[in-house]
Amino acid sequence: IHPRMEKVLELRSLGNTGLKLSCVGFGASPLGSVFGPVSDEEATATVREALRLGINFFDTSPYYGGTLSEKALGKALKAVGVPRDEFIVSTKCGRYKEGFDFSAARITKSIDESLERLQLNYVDILQCHDIEFGSLDQIINETIPALKKLKEAGKIRFIGITGLPLGIFNYVLDRVPLGTIDVILSYCHYGINDTTLEDLLPYLKSKGVGVISASPLSMGLLTENGPPEWHPASPELKVACKNAAEFCKKKGKDISKLAMQYSLRNKEISTILVGMKSVEQVKVNVEAAMELANGEKDEELLVEVEKILKPVKNQTWPSGIQQS
Ligand code: NAD
Repeated sequence: IHPRMEKVLELRSLGNTGLKLSCVGFGASPLGSVFGPVSDEEATATVREALRLGINFFDTSPYYGGTLSEKALGKALKAVGVPRDEFIVSTKCGRYKEGFDFSAARITKSIDESLERLQLNYVDILQCHDIEFGSLDQIINETIPALKKLKEAGKIRFIGITGLPLGIFNYVLDRVPLGTIDVILSYCHYGINDTTLEDLLPYLKSKGVGVISASPLSMGLLTENGPPEWHPASPELKVACKNAAEFCKKKGKDISKLAMQYSLRNKEISTILVGMKSVEQVKVNVEAAMELANGEKDEELLVEVEKILKPVKNQTWPSGIQQS
């Protein structure tokens, strides 16, 4: 990577928050060893490289690796020693190794635990984690009001909600006062194999809500190594993605780079959160963004890969409990 690349990653505004996020965001779930073991040294080196190359946004959760991700990220940020106002941290609440709990009492305790693990005084964003597993009405009537209190107390700056089914976002945003929810995090819905988030963008814009899109590699489907054991996709979707990855490899190309560039194209999305666990992955993903910014994109390869994935386009998987 050329030294010129330092700190030149594009920044994008996140809704009405005033935050400017690097277009490539750092997904810290791999630091919880959910995609294979990662040592504290590797975690720190990865975070250091991310900051050096201009990534300023880090996303974690108490759920990732059963609190391991938060601890590793906290240690890494401290070791790198960047001033607090130069990075943006988002963590979550309501989902834990032990299960889901979106009660006001649990959320209020949860943030203190997270801050301790992260070794921070506040987080920039606190998001209700995978709300389709809870009662959406409890989220609206109990969890969000509790988060507002945390905001007033200065422990969090902004409030978010996350989950897989896109309908949860309309449900909640239609039922809370405008400006209550600052951001949403959607995952696996804005990548080469699934673009369904696109239809929701005008609605989110009308609500002034910032958009974070996670898992551009579909949690490993769009990688040469393939997804982890626990990946919830159907065998059909897994096979199609494997075929697409092999096709790229035969052409001497990397499907992950193509996938990153695809997701990064839409500037209505503030950041593309990609899970990273090595210095090399950080370099590759930032380089993908830089190439795109320089107008380099592989349209021919994209057309071929889209052809391979056409039979499974927008295929997803069930998540959460049935909402009435
Ligand atoms: P992802 O699509 O980003 O894929 C991550 C996997 O790809 C990991 O195994 C990683 O090591 C690997 N990888 C990364 N860069 C690569 C490259 N250039 N080449 C090959 N492999 C590469 O999926 P993800 O990690 O699940 O999602 C990203 C982040 O978004 C998470 O870490 C998390 O912070 C967030 N997220 C949040 C939710 C939620 O709130 N419900 C859900 C999913 C993801």
